[in-house]
This record gives sequence, C-alpha cells and structure tokens, in this order.
Amino acid sequence: MPRIVDEKLMQKIKRHGAGGKLDVSACFNCGNCTAVCPLAQDSGGFPRRVIRMAQVGMERELLASEELWRCYACGECTQTCPRKADPAGFMAAARSYAISRFDLTGLAGLANRSALGNLLVFLFFSTFFSILLSSNGSFGHPELPIFQFLPGEWIHDIGVVLFAVVGLSAFLGLLSMTWRFWTMQRSRGVQLRLSAIPGAIFSALEDALLHRRFRNCDEEQTAVKGNQPWYLRPWTVHLAVMSGFLAMLLATTLDYMLKPIGSPVPPWYPMRLLGLIGGLVCLYGVSVVLVRRAKGGQAPYDRSSFADWFFPVLLFCTVVTGLLCEIVVYLPSPTALGHGIFFAHVVLAMDLVAMMPLTKFAHVLYRTLALALYALRHAPAKVTASVEARV
Ligand code: SF4
Ligand code: SF4
Repeated sequence: MPRIVDEKLMQKIKRHGAGGKLDVSACFNCGNCTAVCPLAQDSGGFPRRVIRMAQVGMERELLASEELWRCYACGECTQTCPRKADPAGFMAAARSYAISRFDLTGLAGLANRSALGNLLVFLFFSTFFSILLSSNGSFGHPELPIFQFLPGEWIHDIGVVLFAVVGLSAFLGLLSMTWRFWTMQRSRGVQLRLSAIPGAIFSALEDALLHRRFRNCDEEQTAVKGNQPWYLRPWTVHLAVMSGFLAMLLATTLDYMLKPIGSPVPPWYPMRLLGLIGGLVCLYGVSVVLVRRAKGGQAPYDRSSFADWFFPVLLFCTVVTGLLCEIVVYLPSPTALGHGIFFAHVVLAMDLVAMMPLTKFAHVLYRTLALALYALRHAPAKVTASVEARV
C-alpha cells in the first residue's frame, strides 16, 4: 500500500484539543510515556507510536490503529513526560479527530472542533426534537395526565426513527474503522483468521462490560500512588457511568417495546425499577466526574476542553430530569413545572442518543470495536500438522 503523507495532520488534530498549555509538538520520541503506560505493556506501542504517526503525517495508519482506542485516558503518561507534551491529551484529541473522520454526515467534525460547533449541533437537535414533539397535541393517554401534554405515541415514533438513524450512522462509522484496520493489516501481510471473529467479539464485550483492562490500569496506579477508596477509583466511577447508562437505555427500549407508552405501572414494575436504579448509579458516577473536572488537579482533570464538559453535563441533566419525571409523571394533576421537566427530559434524552456517534461518547463504540480488533490480531494462529511435526 503506498504511503500517503498528510503534512497538516498534526495541525488538524490540534484543532481537536491537542495543544493549549501543553503541546505535543514538543515530543522528542523518548518513549517514556509508553514505558509508564500501564496498558501499553502488551503491545509496546502507544502513545509514542501514535504521536509519531501524527508527527510524520501518517493519517491512514493512525485511523487504522486500534491502539488509539485502547488508551483509557488515565493521564499517567502526561504526568511523567519530560517535555510536558501531554501525550494523554494528544490521545484524546486524536480520538476526537478519528470520530470526526469516521462520521459521514460532517456533524461530528463540526461538534468536535470547537465549543461553538458543539453548541450549534446541540441546539440544532434540541430545536428539531422540541418542534417535532410540540407539533402534535391531538391525542394522548388518558391514564396519565402528563401524557395529554406530550402524546406517548409521538414520543414513541420519534424515538424509533431516531434510533434507526443513529444506529445507521454508528454502524457506518464502525464499518469505516474496521475497513481501515483490515486493509492496513492485509497490506502488512498480517493474515486475520475469520474463524477467530466470534472469540474476539466475546473477549471485547467481556472486557468492555467488566472494565477488566481499566481495572488492571487502576490497580497499577493504586500500587504506585497509594490507596484510594474503591468507590472513588476511576474504573469504579467509569463503570458506574457506563452500567447506569446501559441500564437506563435497556429500560427505555424495553418500555417502548413491551408496554403502551404512558400506561401506569407501580414503582416495583421491573423496567421502571431498572431505569431508576440505573439512573441513580449513573448519577453517582457522572457527579464524581464533574466534581473532579471542577477541582482540576492532576491529569487528566487538570485541563478540560468544552467537549470534556459537554457530555457529562448533558448526561447529568438527562438523568436528573429523568429522576424528577419519576415523581411528576404520576402526579394526579401535573403542574406547568412538571410539564416543563418532562418535556426537557424527553428532548435531552433524544439529544443524548442523537449525539452519541458524533461526540466523545462514541468512544464506547469505537473502543469496544478496537478491543475486538486487537483480540483478532493477536488470536493464536492455527497450528497445522506439518508445523507440529517440525516442532
Ligand atoms: S510524549 Fe513525552 S514521554 Fe512520550 S515520547 Fe514524547 S517526549 Fe517522550
Ligand atoms: S493516558 Fe494512561 S492509558 Fe492512555 S496512553 Fe497515557 S498512560 Fe496509557
């Protein structure tokens, strides 16, 4: 495969955040960051190798690299870089750049490059969903008074279309990354075994759901820096955000599929209970993240971009309004405030889903895929009879 050099690659990545107080251009490739990275031990490459790709303009290699996504942004490398080049910040910016390149709509590029672009995309979706939800008030569910204000069928129909569009957009992004990875491996003469795909997917899902590598990273850091209560460790907090979010998503999806929207259910109804517990767990995790960002301190919380704030704040507002809805949706005569909270929650939840493949939130998808691609690349080759005989 011919090597194509993009001389402006580093500049483009810098627009996604790699710059500011610390600048990755100062990197002189000493490799200290890779040596201290608790997660690079099994590959020996990142973050130094990924930085090098950007320095010499190897965009194709950078976008095809699964290493970009196997970094968990712990900040260890930034704290020990002798040139103050902020390798952790660079990795985050390069992931943001990759999300923009994988997205076909162009909205990710707008949302990730600047705070203004991010706000514009958010306002676009918020306005769109607000108008759609407000434009049909003719039918409702008499069982719950609040659904006379915002018809359940209308929420349902918009939700189904939204999930389909977002699902397609995310699928195309994942396909783009897989294709780049696959062709790069082939050009290097690496033979990937199709029969290893199921095992690689299983391994990636297990790792993503249990945060196995994240916990290993955490344990290494704890061993170096001293003890920290388990409930404040980064992997516990990240696990709380992710599992809480997944529980809420599952509860909402099952709710759409299994019962008429707006029909009254008791507090112990399984889906309502799942959503409530998921909401509380997620609220805990996202609150810790926001407090850490507000306090600053050591990397990765020492400097936060708009995108670093945007996603947790959006998630926080969605969860809080959702928990408040648990109260107002069952009031016999909802107030204007109750209607407002309910409306805000539905719009924010739709914003969150719509912006998932476009923002930092997309790392959930790309990281899981990267873990599968890594497992696939490292799947043991089949030992043939002739090889066994030679051994
Ligand atoms: S980012 Fe820092 S630690 Fe890593 S290779 Fe460059 S100068 Fe060395
Ligand atoms: S931020 Fe942490 S996981 Fe990522 S490259 Fe640096 S040390 Fe490794």
